Amino acid sequence: MEEQTEKQGYDVIVVGAGAAGLMAAGTAARNGKRVLLLEKMEKSGRKVRITGKGRCNVTNARPAEEFASQVRTNGAFFASAFAGFDNRATIRFFERQGVKLEVERGDRVFPKSGKAWDIANALLDYCVDNGVEIRYDTRVTGILTLGGRVFGVKYLNKRGFERKEECPAVILATGGVSYPATGSTGDGYAFAADLGHTIEPLRPSLTPLVTSHPMVRSLHKLLLRNIRATLYIDNVPAREEFGELGFSDRGIEGAVALRMSRDAVDALIDERRVKLVVDLKPALSEEILRERIARERAELAPTEFFGELLRKLVPQPLVRPLARELDIPAEEYVGKLTDERVARLIRTLKGLTFPITDYAPFEYAVTTAGGVRCEEVNPATMESLKVPGLYFAGEVLDLDANTGGYNLQIAFSTGRLAGQLKKQKG
Ligand SMILES: Cc1cc2nc3c(=O)[nH]c(=O)nc-3n(C[C@H](O)[C@H](O)[C@H](O)COP(=O)(O)OP(=O)(O)OC[C@H]3O[C@@H](n4cnc5c(N)ncnc54)[C@H](O)[C@@H]3O)c2cc1C
Repeated sequence: MEEQTEKQGYDVIVVGAGAAGLMAAGTAARNGKRVLLLEKMEKSGRKVRITGKGRCNVTNARPAEEFASQVRTNGAFFASAFAGFDNRATIRFFERQGVKLEVERGDRVFPKSGKAWDIANALLDYCVDNGVEIRYDTRVTGILTLGGRVFGVKYLNKRGFERKEECPAVILATGGVSYPATGSTGDGYAFAADLGHTIEPLRPSLTPLVTSHPMVRSLHKLLLRNIRATLYIDNVPAREEFGELGFSDRGIEGAVALRMSRDAVDALIDERRVKLVVDLKPALSEEILRERIARERAELAPTEFFGELLRKLVPQPLVRPLARELDIPAEEYVGKLTDERVARLIRTLKGLTFPITDYAPFEYAVTTAGGVRCEEVNPATMESLKVPGLYFAGEVLDLDANTGGYNLQIAFSTGRLAGQLKKQKG
């Protein structure tokens, strides 16, 4: 009789059905645990479904050492979760779930179908097939404790009534605060803080950079490929990146700007001076560029316009803004270009400078930097060192990485480890 009563309860409640929560819940259920997964939205994995522009860059196939260098905060803390469930394990997991994957440029791994939904659905199937009970439209409002250890959760059910569910273990996988429309509104930080955890300051990461340069108004939707950019903080080069840079009404974006945003955001918060210097011709030294310009110029009649020359050197949308930047009329005859003007052109092509004055808010950020302080969590189990029975997984932790599939891998590795519900020693 007693045994029957016990069977009605859950071994673990997972809060949040995102990448980390689905992995944690499915793992626990596969290990024979009775699992309840609570999700405040109407369906699971809303953020996963929009990742990688709808294609989901699910992980990165780089060797482990290189992978680690892409984790920007608390890489050492992440190492044991990654060792237990690494990028190879992620690839095997999804292929076993029936999702065919392929590796693209930069070792980025995507589903062959090109559909992020396949990844989200595979995670959901993993939970359903292993018997996880899922309740949607159910917002957890707090973690219950008794005698300093986890005792359950309280939540608002889909009819808006507060209820509680008792349980000896809770995995908090509520995500960060970026793209809040997907359900990640930072609730987990408040729950963790209420229980005595320190929350490292939250900042948008992988977010567009805002410049005061008037040129960007005319560059809307321009994507520059194969450029090199250097981020300067207080006039000292802080980071260099090669690749794509895009312009939109949100600011300067594209992989290069997003990767730099991690440092730029922190510098702006510290009220330091930030600028982005773009080399539009990274493959050419100044000397070779001078020769190239001379060659292109020789092919034009002296009465053709400077704009024509620029068109041979940069994409069309950049021609007039660049002429304005150089203070050389686009209608100036190439025959009249002075050596000084050519030198100015070379300097600008090799170092187009954008003062960075701000960054786009959380609504546009791919991830959240900051979160539950990792020193307060056992890296071998993901269990809180403050509240026994409380586990963390995913972006709620102070873990963030570069673009390239690394952030989802953080969610999968920590979700896998938390779902094993290992007990801390001592
Ligand atoms: C536009 C965009 C594109 C991205 N592309 C990529 C990519 O291609 N590759 C990559 O590696 N990373 C990418 N990322 C980052 C990646 O999506 C996240 O790092 C990852 O989803 C974090 O997983 P998570 O489970 O920790 O959080 P989330 O996926 O945010 O899940 C958290 C879940 O918890 C739920 N929740 C929150 N509070 C409560 C509550 N109180 N009660 C119940 N449920 C709650 C939320 O509704 C949500 O479902 C992208 C992010 C964005 C925004």
